[in-house]
This record gives sequence, structure tokens and C-alpha cells, in this order.
Amino acid sequence: MAGRNHLYIPGPTNVPNEILNAMHVPMEDHRSPIFPELLTPLLNDLKKIFRTEAGQAFVFPATGTAGWEIALTNCLNPGDKVLIYRFGQFSHLWAEMAKRLGFSVEIHQEPWGMGIPLDKLAARLQEDTQHEIKAVLATHNETATGVTSDIAGVRKALNACQHPALLFVDGVSSIASIEFRMDDWGVDGAISGSQKGFMLPAGGAFLAFSQKALQAIETSTYPRCFLDLKDQMNANKDGYTPYTPNLPLLYGLRKALDMLLAEGLDNVYARHHRLAEGTRKAVAAWGLSLCAQPGFESNTVSAIVVPEGKDAKTVISIAFSKYNISLGAGLSEVAGKVFRIGHVGDMNDVSMLGAIAGVEMALLDSGIDIKAGSGVAAALEYYRATAK
Ligand SMILES: *Cc1c(COP(=O)(O)O)cnc(C)c1O
Repeated sequence: MAGRNHLYIPGPTNVPNEILNAMHVPMEDHRSPIFPELLTPLLNDLKKIFRTEAGQAFVFPATGTAGWEIALTNCLNPGDKVLIYRFGQFSHLWAEMAKRLGFSVEIHQEPWGMGIPLDKLAARLQEDTQHEIKAVLATHNETATGVTSDIAGVRKALNACQHPALLFVDGVSSIASIEFRMDDWGVDGAISGSQKGFMLPAGGAFLAFSQKALQAIETSTYPRCFLDLKDQMNANKDGYTPYTPNLPLLYGLRKALDMLLAEGLDNVYARHHRLAEGTRKAVAAWGLSLCAQPGFESNTVSAIVVPEGKDAKTVISIAFSKYNISLGAGLSEVAGKVFRIGHVGDMNDVSMLGAIAGVEMALLDSGIDIKAGSGVAAALEYYRATAK
């Protein structure tokens, strides 16, 4: 099929040409005296994306899933109690990982579409006067349902009862696109990955840890090897890595950081908000609704509920085979009930309008009763009115 297959999924996202070109490099000796000239500034600039000065940034040749494991196994002890609110596939998988790694996992189930309920969390922390909970696992942006939770609010709940638990945040689909402030929010472990807001291929786990988390490593007896933060720190301090780095990805990250910092993080957040808002206008014009409950709508992904009796898989399959665009599927509990539009990474007004038009055609072809052009019209009026 002529023309490009556009990724309108919430990761992997479209990789800009500048980044593709920057990654096209011959291999280099990663023990050479000049390798630190690449790695050291990368780790420093990565801290700016996490908005931390006090913390330390890390790059592992892995994915976001490894980031979950790095936080758990480096900063905690076997059997420690961790608390997690579960309301989508990613918070579910993180909770399952913690169980499989032998932690004592206190799971609080919320309906899919809901985010972290701050009042319930505050009450639970208050009750834990013995401080048995060693870490709170917070999914900042639940990619399966398009839900963003309030991490500043989680920190407030911890501080309100002076609870010493570590705060680990999954920011895989929020960092570098939705406002994230590690230092201001007192985040102890911030976890991200290369293939979403960072606009890179998968294969990089990007992380940052607070001084409190780094101190916890000193007393952790959890066995670890490949994902050991101390090995990483020992090598990183001289500008090297404990094992062979993914060199093209590092060059790609250099370019991605340059692009994000040149645009300015506040502008990056504002752009994602506009892209998302236009998408939400289209959804409303179609007469459809989001999976996210009001107040929790994500600026990187919208999960859209299809009418009763219709199958979201049909919409996705028509979109792919007839119109050459990729949409996100409904995962697990919401399989067949929702499809997802990613508005994250290298996107602008016109690429969003392409997504919305493609979805509109696929909805009509699936026999879903919407008015042709209604979503596109609503989105383009919003984009015109708010374009600078
Ligand atoms: C994509 C994603 C992950 C998983 O990342 P992988 O890179 O596939 O391991 C984890 N959490 C969230 C919220 C995600 O969106």
C-alpha cells in the first residue's frame, strides 16, 4: 500500500527522521577514552526530563518492564510489603511482577477507567502506623485505559502521615510528554522507557532514583545481577557501562533529548494536551465516550468505548487493512470494548487529524452510527482556534 503506515498506538511511537538518522552509526569501542563524552552528558540531560536535580538517572539496555524490576529488587528486601492500586493492564502486570518476585503485595482493585483514589490511599497509609508498607507503586499513566493519576497527590498523602514508604512511579507513557516532576513530587523511583514519549525504538529503560532510594540499596539483600544499580553506578561514574551498551539507541537518545529540550518541556506538555483535547472533541462529536472517568483523562492516549454490541477489534482491523493506520487494542478486561488512539511523541495537529479521519472511516465501515466528518470537524475547529 502506498504511503506511510502511521502509528497511532501509544507506543512504539513514530520515530522522527532526525532520530532515525542519528541512530545510523557504525559501532564504536565502548571502552574507548572518548565514550564518556557521549554517556556522561546523556545521563545529566536525562535528569532534566525527569525534572530532578537531586536524583540520579540511569539507562539500561532493557524495557520499561525491567524498570519495574530494577526499582523493586534494588531498593527493597525480599518479602517487603508493597501497596498498589490496580485499574488497568499495566498496573496489573506490575502487581503480578511484584508477586512473582516474592514481595507481599497489597492490591487495591479499582474499576478500569479509574485512577489512584487519593482519599482511600490517604486513609490506608494513615492506618499503617507500624509502617509495614515499604513502597507505594503508582502507575502515573495507565496506558490500557487512558487514565492519568495525580502523583503530587500521592506524595501529599504520604507526607500527611509522615509515611516513610518509597514512592515508585511508572511513567513509561507519561515522562517526556505529560508533566512529571520527580523532585517536586518526592518520587523515589521514576521508571520510563524509550519507545513512547522519547520517540525511540524499544530497548532502553530510562530511570531516575532519589538519594533516599539510592541509600536503600545499601541495605537491600535482594539478589540481583544484570539489573543491579550499583554495578551501573560504579561504571557510570567514569562514563562507562557495566556491559555493552546499545550504541545506536544512545545516539538516538542524544538527538531525542536535544529535540525535547529545544522545544522546552512545558511546550511539550502543552502540545500533548492540545493533541489530546482535539481527540476528545472528536470522540464527543461522535457521541462516544472515553474509558477514563472524568478528571482522569490522559494526554498521551485515549481509550474509546464502542457502543454495546459492537466489537472494537473490527474497528482496529478495518483501520489497519483498509486505511493503513495502526490503533491500540483493548487489553485484557476491555478487549473488544475499547480501541485506543495514541497522541504521544512525534505528532502534530495534522497527524492527529489523519488519525481522527482514519478512525472515523473505520467506525462507519464497522456499522457504528456516527456522522461522517463530525469528529474531524470538531477537532480541526479546536486546533485552528488554539494553534499559535
Ligand atoms: C508500555 C508500558 C509499559 C511496558 O513497557 P515495555 O517497554 O513494554 O516493557 C509499562 N508501563 C506502562 C504504563 C506502559 O505504557
